[in-house]
Amino acid sequence: ADNIVNKEDGFWRISKLGVPVGKDPGKDFLEVSLPLLNAIAKVLKFPVAKMLPPEAFTVVRKSFDARKVLKESQFVYIVDMDVKKLLDLEPRTWDFISRLDPKFGLAEYMSSEKVYDDVVTVIHDRKSKNVDAGSGDGINETNSKFPYRTLKSRKPKVVIVGSGPSGLFASLVLGEVGADVTLIERGQAVEQRGRDIGALVARKILQSESNFCFGEGGAGTWSDGKLVTRIGRNTDCVQAVMKTLVRFGASSNILVDGKPHLGTDKLIPLLRNFRHHLQQLDVNIKFGTRLDNLIVENGHAIGIEVSDVSKDSNTNSKLSCDAVVLAVGHSARDVYQMLLRHGVELIPKDFSVGLRIEHPQELINRIQYNTLSTEVRDGRGKVPVADYKVVKYVEEGNIGGNGSVEDLRRSCYSFCMCPGGQIVSTSTDPSELCINGMSFSRRASKWANAALVVTVSKRDFDPFHFHGSLSGVAFQREFERKASVMGGGNFVVPAQTVTDFLESKLTVTTLPSSSYRLGVKASNLHELFPSQITQALQESILKFDKELPFFISKDALLHGVETRTSSPVQIPRHGDTYENKSLKGLYPIGEGAGHAGGIVSAAVDGLYCGFALAKKLNLFDGDI
Ligand code: FAD
Repeated sequence: ADNIVNKEDGFWRISKLGVPVGKDPGKDFLEVSLPLLNAIAKVLKFPVAKMLPPEAFTVVRKSFDARKVLKESQFVYIVDMDVKKLLDLEPRTWDFISRLDPKFGLAEYMSSEKVYDDVVTVIHDRKSKNVDAGSGDGINETNSKFPYRTLKSRKPKVVIVGSGPSGLFASLVLGEVGADVTLIERGQAVEQRGRDIGALVARKILQSESNFCFGEGGAGTWSDGKLVTRIGRNTDCVQAVMKTLVRFGASSNILVDGKPHLGTDKLIPLLRNFRHHLQQLDVNIKFGTRLDNLIVENGHAIGIEVSDVSKDSNTNSKLSCDAVVLAVGHSARDVYQMLLRHGVELIPKDFSVGLRIEHPQELINRIQYNTLSTEVRDGRGKVPVADYKVVKYVEEGNIGGNGSVEDLRRSCYSFCMCPGGQIVSTSTDPSELCINGMSFSRRASKWANAALVVTVSKRDFDPFHFHGSLSGVAFQREFERKASVMGGGNFVVPAQTVTDFLESKLTVTTLPSSSYRLGVKASNLHELFPSQITQALQESILKFDKELPFFISKDALLHGVETRTSSPVQIPRHGDTYENKSLKGLYPIGEGAGHAGGIVSAAVDGLYCGFALAKKLNLFDGDI
């Protein structure tokens, strides 16, 4: 069968195991249930599901599939089968199996030589692992679950700037291999950051250094905490990140759930545990400490200048080091300016801009699940709170420019969808307004929000070309300022019903309710972006409605603006060492450097950079 793979380590991986939602114990149950055994038995052509030992199977992935093409919505599983454990079946079961018609796949397999080969492999593997664990060659084994070893003597100094996912994972690796690590973060630790965010939401006081973007955990802390990634869920690096999150307190469900997410309430204690672990590794963590400048000598970054921004004193100091890991995220626009002053090349890149749409969550549940929507029960029910993902392409036609003809095709898509979440202000400057979405683990709010964005590229930034490589940043800023003015300032967000937006008019001034706590103002959002972006959004929304009927509804409200979907620049680096191509000793990583997009990919980037740098500093003798 095409859904069975022999992993050749004594395990078979069985995928596409569908269990109808009516029979499944529900989204939070990740063990092997009888209905799942039934599905497994069918694939294995095993006659009696109840005779399969549940302990021979491990659930590797569980996803919910509510596509309309299905007769009934179902949970879809991937499981690993431990062949050796199947051999432990009781003798009478074997008797029974051996009397079966050979067309039963498993019976056939069990009576073949192959099964013994698999078992021998398992035993051999275990033996060789034991031998490795016992080897002593003067090298320190850490207690870490990572497969690296530390040398005792060397203590090179590394400064890591930024405690988002990329900076934290780079700190973890370098701390574990024994580097002298200082992690600096302009924002505050989660406890104080929570109070600063509270002051923004309740009293409209924005702390420029401690907010939704800046502070412990980076932009991903007060977020939806989605852990989905496009870089391959089963790759070792993603698994290492997920297991590390579990080690620091995330539920082990994230290892199995098809669409894992944490939610802000789970991220905060997790980050505290992460911090304590780093401190145990002697990583020196300095909150309220902002990188202002690099100290460069002979084309080599040899240290940094910092300000203490947690106090009004604004004291400055210098730190010398062997390497600077720059993990500052894409809202640190001051850092981009500073890099340009040092001649570090920044390459403008495409990103996306648009608006955030919000619907009542109940409507999205109904669109996606129909009658099953009653099973959602504010995140406590059997099926997950419904989400969606839509993508369409719109043609702008062939437009001539300087004699050449360009085919203008834009991709329009939903981004960072937050079921049961809320819209928040991610501004870092009171004169600029931008938004994003966050949620708590249960996703129990009555709203569903998602960014609807279109790709923008060099030709869109053309009017800002005098900003050079920061033309994309200038483009973002232009619309963030416009949104702030449209909203009337004080973080009030301009908003428009989707029906009005589609018709480029403003008739509804008493807006439907919004999760955004700082106020919304009925506005002409259709006038905010250049017409080609507005038209692309309008056209794609009409297409989305065909895929998700009632997406265009009187209760759907658009909010402006969503500009920081990914970095507007890339900071080039060498593929193997992660060192910057313009400046030695500088290691740009994560989203701000244009090398990641999202919590998991940023963490993976930090992890790999940590290993690459450890290797360069002679702290690590393994393969990356
Ligand atoms: P960041 O997380 O941005 O961290 C950079 C850190 O560097 C910040 O803490 C900042 O304070 C610090 N810093 C910046 N400049 C300096 C300086 N000069 N000196 C010292 N420190 C500095 N992604 C997902 O995958 N799933 C989601 O559900 C999700 N939801 C999101 C919700 C919101 C509200 C936001 C804003 C983002 C969300 N994202 C989500 C995106 C995700 O947060 C980022 O992709 C990720 O955090 C990038 O990690 P990073 O380490 O590269 O940078």
